[in-house]
Amino acid sequence: MSSFHSLLPVDAEGYYGHFGGAYIPEILHSNIENLREAFYRYAGDEEFNRELDLLLRDYVGRPSPLYRANRLSEHYGTNIYLKREDLNHTGAHKINNALGSVLLAKRMGKTRVIAETGAGQHGVATATACALMDMECTVFMGATDVARQKPNVDRMRMLGAKVEAVQSGNRTLKDATNEAIRYWCCNPDSFYVIGSTVGPHPYPEMVAHFQSVISKEMRSQLLSQTGSELPDCVIACIGGGSNAAGAFYHFINEPSVRLIAAEAAGLGIDTEMTAATMKVGSEGIIHGSRTMVMQTEDGQIIEPYSISAGLDYPGVGPLHSYLATSGRSEVVAITDRQALDAAMRLTRTEGIIPALESAHALGVLDIMKFAPDQNIVLNLSGRGDKDLDTYLKNQ
Ligand SMILES: *Cc1c(COP(=O)(O)O)cnc(C)c1O
Repeated sequence: MSSFHSLLPVDAEGYYGHFGGAYIPEILHSNIENLREAFYRYAGDEEFNRELDLLLRDYVGRPSPLYRANRLSEHYGTNIYLKREDLNHTGAHKINNALGSVLLAKRMGKTRVIAETGAGQHGVATATACALMDMECTVFMGATDVARQKPNVDRMRMLGAKVEAVQSGNRTLKDATNEAIRYWCCNPDSFYVIGSTVGPHPYPEMVAHFQSVISKEMRSQLLSQTGSELPDCVIACIGGGSNAAGAFYHFINEPSVRLIAAEAAGLGIDTEMTAATMKVGSEGIIHGSRTMVMQTEDGQIIEPYSISAGLDYPGVGPLHSYLATSGRSEVVAITDRQALDAAMRLTRTEGIIPALESAHALGVLDIMKFAPDQNIVLNLSGRGDKDLDTYLKNQ
């Protein structure tokens, strides 16, 4: 029955080159095994996909537009198309994965969902999907983040989710993830929705699959707008890598398409205030997967820093470690200042206020030069309402 076929360079054990895998405690083995089986079964199941496609269309508002940004194109002397994930319900790409994952949880007969969140965007998306599908929802969030992301905490609570403030470590995303994994070990009947292409196999593959609708739409939209399904270049920002994975997915096996990943340099990659994992990190294991990690020589995780809460993660998905080290993708580090300036430029040329995360992708346009006949697709992963305070304070 199942006809699922991944386009990713991933093997049966979840390795992308030598990155990935599933480094998990014994107690989670059967959980992960069940999830893997269910994912492959339902990803190729017609009924499941019909239900998900309908939700993506009528609930999320897909397909999200591919918008030719004329004034921005003129400014940079090339052709820039924005993939408008900012127009999705809940304001970012994260809802694509949350709906797919919670629908899968439902099919698996689960009634309880857990999630981790940093800035709260994934928490809100998961709480939204859980309200829609009548699931109990608990979101783990570092206590520091609970205090500084109050509007999203309020949203999650309004949606019926329980928000657990995590008191360990720096009380941010990494600590929330540790706590979610710990809870999952004690409550294996719950379904863990991970918010990015990170974690043990099959999560990176599964989240990339649910986000791959982004590049699927790009191809047909490009065909009707430019006459070719292929752009010259796709640009996306990278926290854990899910919006980039979705934007790259259907182009990975098209060597003529350049894939450019923008990570957060923070105050600069030569400072200690950075989150540019692929620039300053080294191979290690974080949250169940072998990948690039920001760590000391003896393997202690280094606290990341970025002005953007969604990019402030000390790891990156194994797919991106593989794409970058094999030369398939190019990684650019964008500083806080470059992102802030790029956000202002988009706002004033196109009337679109981007999420701070997406502003890092926009920052690439100031660093790399593209030719007048080239078509550049930039994934605008989310809207900037949540970042207004930061923008106005840092003008
Ligand atoms: C969470 C988030 C990101 C970063 O996560 P990825 O998994 O790397 O996509 C980027 N943009 C927005 C708007 C986000 O909310």
